[in-house]
Amino acid sequence: MKTKTKTKTKTKTAFPVVIEKNGYTVVLHSPSKATVSGGRLPEAVNVSHLLGEGDANPKTKKNKVPTMGLSLFPYNGIGFGNVCAFAKNCVVSCLAHQGQGPVPSVMGARVAKTVLWYLAREWFLRRLNHELATFRGKYGRRRTVGVRLNMFSDIPWEDYGVIDNHPGITFYDYTKNPRRVGDVRPNYWVTFSYDGTNEAEAVRHLREGKNVSVVFYLETDEAVCGKAAHRQPLPATWNGFEVIDGGATDWRPSDPWGVVIGLRLLARTYESREAGISSGFAQKIDTRLPILS
Ligand code: SF4
Repeated sequence: MKTKTKTKTKTKTAFPVVIEKNGYTVVLHSPSKATVSGGRLPEAVNVSHLLGEGDANPKTKKNKVPTMGLSLFPYNGIGFGNVCAFAKNCVVSCLAHQGQGPVPSVMGARVAKTVLWYLAREWFLRRLNHELATFRGKYGRRRTVGVRLNMFSDIPWEDYGVIDNHPGITFYDYTKNPRRVGDVRPNYWVTFSYDGTNEAEAVRHLREGKNVSVVFYLETDEAVCGKAAHRQPLPATWNGFEVIDGGATDWRPSDPWGVVIGLRLLARTYESREAGISSGFAQKIDTRLPILS
């Protein structure tokens, strides 16, 4: 006798989908193409990919491991939501506003992707998972590939299944969230970010063998904005813990454990440099003490 089996019906999205919310209009044309307009965008932005090649980003281009990154617009910069829930005095000095960050096309793409994250979450996650699988598939199985999803955000991607969906990718990020530090997943390494207000947590993480990034600046009368900022030295230790040069590569998963990742205060203008210093975000280098580089 034949038994009746229930057939699962997959609901297919009927494109185009139009979403209007918080002053923005999102049009999802297909699983791979969307247009975002309105809000803080002076003109409509087409989005056909979420991840960017590491080579095109000064943060990740020094990595020897093929790396891709996801660049959103930080904090509450799109006018609603907040992709950096723990950000305090890092907001003004955020690297998202340095280098190419203020270029309208760069900023527009980041804003549009962030709007998609909030207003078209299912589309966003499907697209992201697809791009991650495609990226992994480009390389042989033995080749390590890396992805940094929080280039300018602090989203707990492990809560959305993204990290577990791709065990063949090594993910890494920085965070200001004290509850997601270290080996958050076997394939996800997260470095805690000191911002001038979270010293006790930073030291606790270091004692536990996790890593902490600290931004340093050199007090000097010489020019230290733009490219010159990269020439600032780093101290050899911070709070008694060894400092390594975080500017040599962005590839944090290979760092030794229990060390400080020393970063230089990179500012496009003296105004943003001053904001990073006066807020306590960046730490002054005491040149009387041993210097790393
Ligand atoms: S948490 Fe990171 S990405 Fe967010 S504003 Fe601060 S420095 Fe920028």
